[in-house]
Amino acid sequence: MKIKDILAQGKPTLSFEVFPPKTMDNYESVEQAAKEIAKLHPAFMSVTYGAGGGTSQYTVDIADTLNNEYQVPTLAHLTCVSSTREHVRRVLEQLEEKKIENILALRGDIPREGKVEKDYQYASQLIYEIKQKGDFCIGGACYPEGHVESSNKTEDITHLKEKVEAGCDFVTTQMFFDNNILYNYLYRIRERGITVPVIAGIMPVTNVSQIKRICQMSGTYLPSRFKAIVDRFGHNPAAMRQAGIAYATEQIIDLIANGVNGIHIYSMNKPEVARRIQDSLSEIL
Ligand code: FAD
Repeated sequence: MKIKDILAQGKPTLSFEVFPPKTMDNYESVEQAAKEIAKLHPAFMSVTYGAGGGTSQYTVDIADTLNNEYQVPTLAHLTCVSSTREHVRRVLEQLEEKKIENILALRGDIPREGKVEKDYQYASQLIYEIKQKGDFCIGGACYPEGHVESSNKTEDITHLKEKVEAGCDFVTTQMFFDNNILYNYLYRIRERGITVPVIAGIMPVTNVSQIKRICQMSGTYLPSRFKAIVDRFGHNPAAMRQAGIAYATEQIIDLIANGVNGIHIYSMNKPEVARRIQDSLSEIL
């Protein structure tokens, strides 16, 4: 099923993300985690794409299992900056063959040392190409706090508009820990004529090293309420996990109460985290 049709039903939806293994050694354990999450019957699941594209086969294979064995609508991520047009064509053919209807089309991070191909510079080019090639439902990424490379948020929204005009059916946000940032962003993008559904990306932070990595990579703002939780519980993994899940759950309840229906959980291959969040929302979803 296409995600745009799921979103068009106008009801709150909960979806989960998994990431593929870096090597074949971990394939089975990642696939098992993905299957456990699939058993929760989320609205859809997404499978990320390894930077550089070297593990694209794992993305396709895990998406295939979720979509065709578990009948969970699946969103396969696809990045382009390190790929040739030929590689992208092959991945699209595989997805089409496996009846995976949804693609999150991304540029990908510019590799520090790895290879950058010349075929694509921005996600909008990939989105345009996918739109021409097949009957896929296409998603794009958006950044309520601005993309790290962008000199200002207005320009970033201009480029988001280009992605939507190229063929995005919906967009998913980078994680954020202060809902007001999303509410302001939604106001700004709607004002600029971007009307596609926006799915809120929520990260349940369950360990401290994860937060440090996030801040370094994306410059995400951490509200003092969240910092206090980390200071108080960061040294105690079980307490941090519980507090991180509770914080994410509160964020989601506030989002749904304010009309943001699409909630995507960066579940980091952790079925237990996915299950606990879903259980806490059992009367809300
Ligand atoms: P783009 O939309 O191309 O934007 C990149 C930058 O270029 C922005 O600063 C933008 O403002 C600017 N820009 C765009 N068009 C133009 C233009 N015409 N002229 C000048 N500047 C322009 N990474 C992975 O490797 N694998 C994944 O599976 C993955 N999944 C993700 C899922 C989500 C929901 C999100 C939010 C991010 C994900 N990422 C993933 C990370 C993403 O690849 C990086 O954030 C990357 O740096 C940007 O990708 P993009 O598709 O947003 O790029």
